[in-house]
Amino acid sequence: MAKLSSLAQFVALAATGIAWSSPDCKAVPGSPGWPTEIQWSGLNTSLSGRLIKPSPPGAVCHPTQVTFNAAECPAVQAEWLTAAWHTTNPVSSIRNNWNNDTCLPIATDPCSGEGYPIYVVNATCAEDVKAGVDFARENNIRLIVKGTGHDYIGRSSAPNSLSIWTHHITGLSFHDGFEPKGCGFSIDGAAITAAAGTQMLELDGQAHLRNLTIVSGGSGSVGVGGYLTGGGHGALSSTYGMGADQVLEIEMVTPGGDIVTVNECQNQDLFWAMRGGGGSTFGVMTSVTIKAFQSSAFHTVTALMATKPGTDAYWSVIANVLSQFPTLDEMGISAYSYIAPGFTSAALNITTPVDGFYGIFMLPGLHPENTSDSLTSAIKQLFNTATSSFPQQFETFTNTTSYPDFWSYFEPNYGPLNAGDDGVLGSRLLDGKALTGNLTALADAYRVASPVGNEISAFLVSGKGVHNAKPRGGSNAVNPAWRTAYIHSVLSVGWEPLNEQQKKNQEGNLTDVYIEGLRKLAPDMGAYVNEAYPDEPDWQHTFWGDNYERLLSIKKDYDLGNVLWCHPCVGSENWEVVDNVLCSK
Ligand SMILES: Cc1cc2nc3c(=O)[nH]c(=O)nc-3n(C[C@H](O)[C@H](O)[C@H](O)COP(=O)(O)OP(=O)(O)OC[C@H]3O[C@@H](n4cnc5c(N)ncnc54)[C@H](O)[C@@H]3O)c2cc1C
Repeated sequence: MAKLSSLAQFVALAATGIAWSSPDCKAVPGSPGWPTEIQWSGLNTSLSGRLIKPSPPGAVCHPTQVTFNAAECPAVQAEWLTAAWHTTNPVSSIRNNWNNDTCLPIATDPCSGEGYPIYVVNATCAEDVKAGVDFARENNIRLIVKGTGHDYIGRSSAPNSLSIWTHHITGLSFHDGFEPKGCGFSIDGAAITAAAGTQMLELDGQAHLRNLTIVSGGSGSVGVGGYLTGGGHGALSSTYGMGADQVLEIEMVTPGGDIVTVNECQNQDLFWAMRGGGGSTFGVMTSVTIKAFQSSAFHTVTALMATKPGTDAYWSVIANVLSQFPTLDEMGISAYSYIAPGFTSAALNITTPVDGFYGIFMLPGLHPENTSDSLTSAIKQLFNTATSSFPQQFETFTNTTSYPDFWSYFEPNYGPLNAGDDGVLGSRLLDGKALTGNLTALADAYRVASPVGNEISAFLVSGKGVHNAKPRGGSNAVNPAWRTAYIHSVLSVGWEPLNEQQKKNQEGNLTDVYIEGLRKLAPDMGAYVNEAYPDEPDWQHTFWGDNYERLLSIKKDYDLGNVLWCHPCVGSENWEVVDNVLCSK
């Protein structure tokens, strides 16, 4: 079966006239440079049998496929819809479109598997990673990295590639004070070294057992690899800084195949780039050491504000609420909130649509004045101020809960999250100027960004902690827009699998209409690379601002030949994928 598909690919490439044998293209099955079975077998031996040639996970539902299994198919179809399941498969992604819909678990859909990697290194240690990196470099094969497959911009999957799967690189160790290699001094406080396969739930849970807490994301199944290399926001980032700001040291394999330790005292350029410069670009992280903090009480208020649909008052109030977020940040409050016109909720028994605003506001009890009462009164005040010009038009509801620590809040709330759909995100980081400068413009931007039935988030996850962060070594590659932002606003559009026209329309709406208003509102800001539309205009500066040029120079120093390539990633602009083949332009 595998041989047949290689042959078909060879014929198809020859017919399209693609330069499949060109030295400027990565090798693909059937092209002259593609390794022989003996060479692949040699790699497998050097990996002690840990090279996998996986079938697409949806193939169990396709009678034409060798892995067809009618009994297993229903379970795969059910699990396909949960984010966590995709982490346990070597090639699966949470969104179908990143595998080009090429083998959904639906018997009537096509199953070519062309959107998936050809081989996977099921790595358990840095030496396995090195073997894979060396093999890809020496044989001119496109190399990618998959931790969990949670990427929202499709970087952890690619056709005709060799993938390094880090899921089984496991282990955690805890430090009371940490001495970065080669530094000769110790950094005070608690620290945790996590292997590349670590996911947030394990990291948060193990930290909790030691009365510690960390900056981590909202979902338990996200992995450290993509989260920390992209930046990493969370409920505690507005207190302590981004996830990347907590990194003390990284062990990694460079595109040249060196296993190196990077920190503020050695390999400083890679240390800088790996903290925010993006995943699968500067090397493969095999472990990371991050700062941890003593746990403290954690207060939350879940809140809802609603009015009848279709009024101008709604947008005016939304703008007023958002304009107060910098003040909330001053009080140490963060939020996951949503602007939801046309909102209904079975859980809240709201069956007739309302124009709503809902979310959770959070306050770590780090200071005596940070109490559940202070949080509750701040949120009530927020709504009172915003709605005062529109008496009796808005209903508000708040519910306060206090937890002994962050974990007690996180554990019941981390997921499970949906997956197995087709879609993309769009987002923008908004600073104080965008939020308070012109409330009419703010209201208009959100009115356009969230048409009825399509909610948009307003995450208050930046703020003091991110603005004043002191990353080791003085700075890191996190998008400078984070350093003035308060809100990270994200929305999602989707389409039916395999429906190209719908995809085109939805992506067009997202980037040309919904996000365009927010871009105009905050033209000097940018977007968070891990949760954004991958084809943002001027993506280089949208995702990395003024850091881009330095990042590009580091990429050229360590990976001139683009052993690692992904889009939109630093240095990717001179290559393109045509008919599943990666070639230089
Ligand atoms: C349900 C869900 C919730 C989320 N919540 C948050 C949140 O609260 N805060 C937040 O900041 N983000 C959040 N995100 C976004 C998240 O940060 C990105 O999806 C991130 O890329 C996931 O990283 P990963 O390693 O889990 O995923 P993967 O898809 O495995 O990898 C993502 C990228 O990182 C690369 N990569 C992975 N491991 C390594 C490694 N060891 N070395 C080098 N490169 C590597 C991959 O090649 C790819 O480029 C969320 C995503 C999802 C799906």
